[in-house]
Order: sequence, then structure tokens, then C-alpha cells
Amino acid sequence: MKINDRLREDKIHISFEVFPPKTDEGFDNVIHAVDEIARLEPAFISVTYGAGGGTSRNTAKIAAHIKNDLNMLSLAHLTCASSTKTEVREVIEHLKSLGIENILALRGDIPANMAFPSADRFRYAFELVEEIRRHGDFCIGAACYPEGHVENEHKEDDIRYLKQKVESGVDFLTTQMFFDNDIHYNFLYRIREAGITVPVLPGIMPITSASQMKRSQELSGTVFPRRFLSILDRFGSSPTAMRQAGIAYATDQIIDLLANGVKNIHIYSMNRPDVADAIMRNLSEIIKC
Ligand code: FAD
Repeated sequence: MKINDRLREDKIHISFEVFPPKTDEGFDNVIHAVDEIARLEPAFISVTYGAGGGTSRNTAKIAAHIKNDLNMLSLAHLTCASSTKTEVREVIEHLKSLGIENILALRGDIPANMAFPSADRFRYAFELVEEIRRHGDFCIGAACYPEGHVENEHKEDDIRYLKQKVESGVDFLTTQMFFDNDIHYNFLYRIREAGITVPVLPGIMPITSASQMKRSQELSGTVFPRRFLSILDRFGSSPTAMRQAGIAYATDQIIDLLANGVKNIHIYSMNRPDVADAIMRNLSEIIKC
């Protein structure tokens, strides 16, 4: 089954994200986390893609485990900036041979010390989307940025390029993490006005420690609202209190989104079944509505 078919169902869908191990030694631990997360019966589980080496190979293995062993929908991320076009084509064919039907098409971050753009690489995600379409009948997702992508000075350009990406064959979008829902509502209004009509899955990151907040800010450039900063200020030094407060904050964001008509939510569960489980417990009655 494809993710776009699942998203058409008139019910609430919660999905989770995991990331592959950096080395093959960590593989079993990640599979264990995936199996635990799968018990929560999410709409699908996505697997991120690292640049080159074992991390990228493991994305396909984990996505295939989700699809073929656990019998669940899996979404394999694929980036193009760090690989040649030939390498990217090989990965797409490999995913196809494993029966993977859903791919999140991303440019990825541009590796330092690399000549980019270059003729042997895809420059933007929309080119990768077009390439995936040439390889078969995949459901294709892509990334979007409610606060704007860090490389773009003007949000209007970001939305113009997003429209081009969607028109190249994107079935749904997942957002970068955000911590202020009003930013998301504003973004939705602007993209709908620009004629982008595909489903948009808000990406919610439960922040359970001060160090995770720092990493998230470096990665995404997101703005943390005052309300979140007060929580961090007060509870950041206690791991157990911060975990509880971070789960409550993410739950609160999700409840607000659902109350405002959002039906599909993607949770950056970061190989943490305990966090995913706590959020699902908090939502147990709400997701039945
Ligand atoms: P693009 O859509 O190509 O956009 C990149 C930049 O180019 C933007 O500023 C855009 O506005 C601009 N642009 C696009 N088209 C044009 C054009 N025609 N002309 C001029 N400018 C243009 N990274 C990983 O390495 N692995 C992952 O698994 C991963 N998963 C992610 C999942 C989600 C939901 C999100 C939001 C991000 C993820 N990332 C991942 C990070 C992502 O790879 C980076 O944010 C990257 O910098 C941009 O990728 P993109 O696919 O959005 O690129």
C-alpha cells in the first residue's frame, strides 16, 4: 500500500521516524527500537538517509524490515547531493527490488569541500523526484519548511520552489520540526493560497533534553518560543523532569493541531520507543475521535 492511499482515509494518522545506525554494530539496537515502535501501530514508519557508507545501506535494510517482516508501511528517505546520479539510480532500483513503494525525496545537505553543483549530481530535490518517477510507480514525499529553508532569504522564493517540487510529482509533504503551531498554520495558509494542495504532515519533535534542543536548533535553525524556553530553563537540569515536560509539550502541540483539523502527524521519534509510547498513551482517546 502507498502512503498517499493511507492518507486519503478519513481518520487520524500518526507516523514515526527512525534513523539508521552510524555503524553496522548498532543495527540490532535500531531494529529492536523499530519493532517496539511498530507495536504502537503507526500509519507508517520513515527511515532517514545518511550520506554514503553503512548509514545509507542500512536505510534500505530497515525500510525493507518494516515493510516485509512487520507488514507495515515504510517510507525510505533518499538524498541526492552526496551521491552521483548513477549511485542514486542504483539506490532507487535497489529500493524497488526490496518492494519499497514510498520514498521521501530530499536534496540532503551539501557535503563540505565538494564542488556543488556538478553535472554528475542532482542539484535540487525536484530533479530527484523526476528521476524517481522515471523508475516506477512510487508514492513520493518531500520536505517543506514552515519557517523557510535556511538557504533562502525570501520565504516567497521558498514557496515558489516548493510548488515547482510538488508539480514535479510529489504526493505529500512533511514539514521540518517547529515548536510554535501558529507558524505552521500561517505556512499552510500561504502554500494553499499558492495552489499547493497535497497533504502536509506537520513534523513534531519531542525535545527531552537540553542537548537535544541544541542539536535540533543547529540542524533546523528553528525558533523556540518563550514558552518552550521557560520549560527548558526550569527543568533542563533534571533529565526525568525534562523528558516529562518535553513529552507534554509535544503532546500539547499535537492536540492543538488535531483540534484545528489536522489529520496526519509525523513524530520525529528518534529511535525512542519509550517517548513514542508515552505520546501515544497521552493521545489514546483523542485519536479515536
Ligand atoms: P530542495 O527542495 O532541493 O531545496 C533546497 C534549497 O534549494 C531550498 O532553499 C530551496 O528553496 C532551494 N531551491 C529548490 N529548488 C530551487 C530552484 N529550482 N532554484 C533555486 N533554488 C531552489 N537530510 C538528510 O541528509 N537525510 C534525511 O533523511 C533527511 N530527512 C529529512 C526529512 C524532512 C521531513 C526534512 C524537513 C528534512 C530532511 N533532511 C534530511 C534535511 C534536508 O536534506 C535539508 O534540509 C536540505 O538542506 C534540503 O533538502 P530539500 O529536499 O528540502 O531540498
